[in-house]
Amino acid sequence: MRLLILTYHNLHDVGSPVSVPPGMLRQHLQRLRDAGCTVLPLSEALNRAAAIELTGTYPVALTFDDGYAAVLEHAAPLLASYGWRGTVFPITDYVGRSNCWPGQPSGIPTDHLLGWSELRELAAAGWEVGAHSRTHPDLTSLDDHGLAAELLGAKAILEDHLGLAVAAFAYPYGRYDRRVRSHVERTYSVACTTTMRIARGASDRYTLGRVDAWYFSRSLPARFLASPGMEPYVALCRVARSGRAVLSEVTQSVGR
Ligand SMILES: [Zn+2]
Repeated sequence: MRLLILTYHNLHDVGSPVSVPPGMLRQHLQRLRDAGCTVLPLSEALNRAAAIELTGTYPVALTFDDGYAAVLEHAAPLLASYGWRGTVFPITDYVGRSNCWPGQPSGIPTDHLLGWSELRELAAAGWEVGAHSRTHPDLTSLDDHGLAAELLGAKAILEDHLGLAVAAFAYPYGRYDRRVRSHVERTYSVACTTTMRIARGASDRYTLGRVDAWYFSRSLPARFLASPGMEPYVALCRVARSGRAVLSEVTQSVGR
């Protein structure tokens, strides 16, 4: 079994490291349709991935982190035009506010986040609403009490406001360790990281890899989506990203 989980954040035409233009999302959807993919909300896609693959199609889940308002404005109607639904991971203490949580990298434009009525609208349209913590901290930096507040708290708040069960979680910044993973396992049924890889049958369902859609945000790489060239391209992106991370660590330690 393999499951392609794509990660999106914001959608707008102003270029930023966390946004993809709505027109590019449309190209992604068309590419997935042309490749015969089956797009489902994350939990559904994971539970049915093996059966979907037996039909000769490629299971795909589109996930939208942080709960930007553009998800309802742009992504939901675009996906609906293909008969598809996605998964959104809002940050509960920031619902209806802006992306002003501490630790936001520089260069990320301030923008609106979905409110509760908008999240209810997405849920009513069949979207999966997962959790992404209450305040978007690095979970590995928290003690057990803080972890429980972020994990159990986010699930309880979402379920209270939306009136449905919340099963999926996305680690803020993709940061987790063994202790965080075990807390998440006690609270949720599935969890996503930011590790660039395609999920497999043998993958741990609490550390599922995803592929950042930003790497497909130009016309040429977008053609690799769900193509035979996708896996080598994703492997190349993973190497390039870890190379950049090492370079940034070295630069910071030299500058210290
Ligand atoms: Zn996030």
